Amino acid sequence: MISVEEALARILAEITQLPLAQVPLADTLGLVLAEDSVAQEDMPPFANSAMDGFALLSRDSQPRDGQPPRLQVIGSVAAGYVAEQDVREGTTMRIMTGAPVPPGADTVIQVELTRSEGPASDTVEILETVPPGNNIRPAGEDMQRGQTILTRGTEIGPWEIGVLATLGMATVPTIRRPHVAILGTGDEVIDVDQPLRPGKIRNSNSYLLEAAVQKAGAVPHRLGIAHDTVESLREKFSEAVQYDLIITSGGVSVGDFDLVKNIMAEQGQINFWRINMRPGKPVAFGHIGGVPLLGLPGNPVSAAVTFELFGRPVIRKMLGHARLLRPQVEVIVEDGVSDRAMRRHYVRARVAWRDGHFIAHTTGNQGSNITTSLLGANAFVIVPEGGITIAPGGTAQAMMLDWPEV
Ligand code: AMP
Ligand code: MG
Repeated sequence: MISVEEALARILAEITQLPLAQVPLADTLGLVLAEDSVAQEDMPPFANSAMDGFALLSRDSQPRDGQPPRLQVIGSVAAGYVAEQDVREGTTMRIMTGAPVPPGADTVIQVELTRSEGPASDTVEILETVPPGNNIRPAGEDMQRGQTILTRGTEIGPWEIGVLATLGMATVPTIRRPHVAILGTGDEVIDVDQPLRPGKIRNSNSYLLEAAVQKAGAVPHRLGIAHDTVESLREKFSEAVQYDLIITSGGVSVGDFDLVKNIMAEQGQINFWRINMRPGKPVAFGHIGGVPLLGLPGNPVSAAVTFELFGRPVIRKMLGHARLLRPQVEVIVEDGVSDRAMRRHYVRARVAWRDGHFIAHTTGNQGSNITTSLLGANAFVIVPEGGITIAPGGTAQAMMLDWPEV
């Protein structure tokens, strides 16, 4: 049995980033940029007004004989249009935010610092002296042509999408999303729309994993349920090998019908089997037809926990992310953890910030079949190997499932 750290290291050593794909901008959320993004134009492309006001010559804003100067309004320029005439001495033009500064004008005064008889007035009084360049956003102030704006490896979030749109990138070079086959196993497992019959349970794992895979940024493909026969597994695996990653649940323990490892050995290789952890000891990892295969345990909580620990980092590495692992933080375990486990124990818990501390509450019965212990959990409290208990109010490290990877 190997440690969680060794298992993770051995898995990640086998995983490489997927190739580049050109993706429509609107579909890039969460992807990683595969190439630097360089500005092809200045942004903004032209000097424009930062305010609604009047474009004028700075020197025309000086008081005359102690009185505010009165200028002749010769026109108006709105955002999206260009002025048809120049601003000359003694004249001014109404200007809206974002409109190009008309030729001749060297400054803009905001409307609040002027006085006129309404929007149709053909004169305006300038109530303050404004220096050249006032309220003018110069061309290239944000980005300059030729400048590298985003570097490859950057994760694309909403703000990056905004900048990529500004750069005119209708399609974006990204690392392509992995396609992940999800396979349930077990003669007892039936689909969610089936009524329960004696001895049967519903397939919760495949649906849980499908959502978790999607949340990690990959595209899930649910392949249904393989029976506990070599033939059925072979058939399902022949379909699964067209994807970038195969995730199975069940069939990796020591029972007579736990045949996933057999198929792995027959058609590929097993890298390791069994991790010194709880829940989720019987994890198997290897390859089949050149495709990495992560064989997760059948117990739903084990499948959920081991996906978070191993499946999610695999997907992130394929996606080109530099940050693969959830952060850990010290927490006070208010209710303690009393069941002794010799293996490393990942206890589902709800962690909240209270009075200057992170306080963890475990989610009740921690049996690997107790799916309701996942509900409300946003962290795993990590109890080290060696049969350790945590007294109520004791401290432990917790892996934060709702914090971004570090
Ligand atoms: P196994 O590892 O195949 O022996 O499965 C361990 C336990 O997990 C058994 O109680 C199975 O019934 C259960 N199990 C296996 N696959 C699923 C599934 N897809 N959904 C829910 N429970 C499952
Ligand atoms: Mg089974």
